[in-house]
Amino acid sequence: MDYLIPPQPQAVALVAGSDAVFPVHRIYCVGRNYVEHAQEMGGTGREAPFFFMKPADAVLAVSETAVGEMPYPPMTDNLHHEVELVLAIGTGGKDIPVAGALSHIWGYAVGLDMTRRDLQAESKAQGRPWCTAKGFDFSAPLGAIHPAATVSDMDQARISLEVNGKTRQNSDTGKLIWSLAEIIHCLSQLYTLQPGDLIFTGTPAGVAAVQRGDVLQARITGLSELNIKLV
Ligand code: MN
Repeated sequence: MDYLIPPQPQAVALVAGSDAVFPVHRIYCVGRNYVEHAQEMGGTGREAPFFFMKPADAVLAVSETAVGEMPYPPMTDNLHHEVELVLAIGTGGKDIPVAGALSHIWGYAVGLDMTRRDLQAESKAQGRPWCTAKGFDFSAPLGAIHPAATVSDMDQARISLEVNGKTRQNSDTGKLIWSLAEIIHCLSQLYTLQPGDLIFTGTPAGVAAVQRGDVLQARITGLSELNIKLV
């Protein structure tokens, strides 16, 4: 088969301690999955899980030792950080039961769900989709993925974000409203999960704006930290 135009390269994520890369299929994101963040966004903290997506090539893959450069996106004056635990799916499926759902996870990484908050607020007010607020170029900085077999306690891990050395977000994945297994269960009722899918599991409270020149340091205990600079 001949392509009429050159196909775009496969989007990939990096893997800790390996030269092999993880091919990214889709990026799913969970909204409002920590009570205090749900409340700071105007919710009650008790809604059923809801989802949105980013394009696979929104990934900005950053190695364990590098500071990734994220271009400050156009058409916003209010770019927010959201530090999140990211699941890398290794085994697909639909209608995956909660029991055994974790066995579909190939690995874990630290990610940033970067958000044009001003465009999101406008979309909410108008009842319009969130695509331009969430799914823009470089909107998904991602640290190295750690194979599930090499990490433990991802459901009870400290999750934090510093901007220019000052703590902005600091919580624990034990405070997720919907657990990792429940997220996989719910999402797999809506979509057939595929190997290569990434799931951003939601951010704790403390989201705020960043500016060009800011350095962001995202951490989850047990995983490689993710460092980026806004340029
Ligand atoms: Mn988010």
